[in-house]
Amino acid sequence: MSTQPDRPAGFRTRAVHAGHGLDPATGAHAVPIYATSTFGYGSAERGGRLFAGEEQGYFYSRLSNPTVRAFEEKVASLEEAGDAVAFASGMGAASAIALTLLKTGDEVAFVGPLYGGTEGLLRDVLEKFGVTVREAHDVEQLRALVSGRTRLVWLETPTNPTIQIVDLRAASQVAHAAGALVVVDNTFSTPYLTRPLAHGADLVMHSATKYLGGHGDVIGGVVAASADLIADLRLHGLRHVGAVMGPFEAFLLLRGLKTLPLRMEAHCQGAAALAAALQGHPAVRALHYPGLPTHPGHAVAARQMRAYGGLLSLDLGSRAAAFAFLDGLRLFTQAVSLGDVESLSCHPASTTHHLLGEETLARQGVTPGLVRLSVGIEDAEDLIRDVLGALERVPVAAGG
Ligand SMILES: *Cc1c(COP(=O)(O)O)cnc(C)c1O
Repeated sequence: MSTQPDRPAGFRTRAVHAGHGLDPATGAHAVPIYATSTFGYGSAERGGRLFAGEEQGYFYSRLSNPTVRAFEEKVASLEEAGDAVAFASGMGAASAIALTLLKTGDEVAFVGPLYGGTEGLLRDVLEKFGVTVREAHDVEQLRALVSGRTRLVWLETPTNPTIQIVDLRAASQVAHAAGALVVVDNTFSTPYLTRPLAHGADLVMHSATKYLGGHGDVIGGVVAASADLIADLRLHGLRHVGAVMGPFEAFLLLRGLKTLPLRMEAHCQGAAALAAALQGHPAVRALHYPGLPTHPGHAVAARQMRAYGGLLSLDLGSRAAAFAFLDGLRLFTQAVSLGDVESLSCHPASTTHHLLGEETLARQGVTPGLVRLSVGIEDAEDLIRDVLGALERVPVAAGG
């Protein structure tokens, strides 16, 4: 046996093992799908203790379910958080955070662009309840607009779909100086690449639909934070709101998470190879990938990310050029979502972000020619050939 002092298990070990052992009832090696809405107390006495929180146990699957609990514990371990709570979707997680932590008169600030659905939640739902939403485009702008009324600062890095980098440590310092909590949507990076809590964030949320699941077959969400914040979210954001994850979804996510580090390595390698192959291509007006030394966020990304992620975006100059390119791709399926083992492509201005309107899109840099690519785990040479082939369909503007 090793004489090394105990050290915490590594990320790959935790991805495989954290959150579960053999099933206590049967010895099952894989976590069983506990398809049950309710759990018998055994005695009236025990029912009271469970409801009073004097005894830990399962009593109703909207509040907690063993399969879902294993998923929550695995995510808490990977994010190195006190606890985690699962939701029916990423937006279920986002709305639980907002409804639990914000009240009328509060302000929420974000560094945009944010995921379109999150911005919709803030502007279309929360503003209706008297929450003021303030938008910054970098940490300096954030510093200028936070105040004692700012309760929450919402961050995403890399940003969607412009693939810009937000300095989590600097933004968290600004938020904390104003007395605000920081939530980071870590969907694009995953805990394998970035652990926002280690950079000062208070809560980290995911659309588990994306890289955590990884196979394009499940919708889910999760939040990781201190045990106190998670207890609050579980009571007010889950028990009283109800966007609950089902046990089958949790089973798929547990299975997906076991290979998260291996998949992320492949996504990052593929995206880096594709970005290198696209640099200087005459049809590409702008190329956004934080692994490129020319990317404005490269130095911050090098500090806060293990590798540079599986997403990149390119600007082809016009909507017509973007559409010609997208229709020429063979391996990149045209679909929203991201983070699947299969490569995906989309035109944000007309799909994921179309609700925001032209003015907001222009302000946030979501141009008509912008295409977002989610690089899967296929062979990089095949993906590069596919993309270069589709670019041949894009007319190179004279003088462009
Ligand atoms: C997809 C996504 C969401 C929303 O998650 P759903 O699971 O679709 O509800 C939130 N944030 C980001 C960054 C996303 O990509």
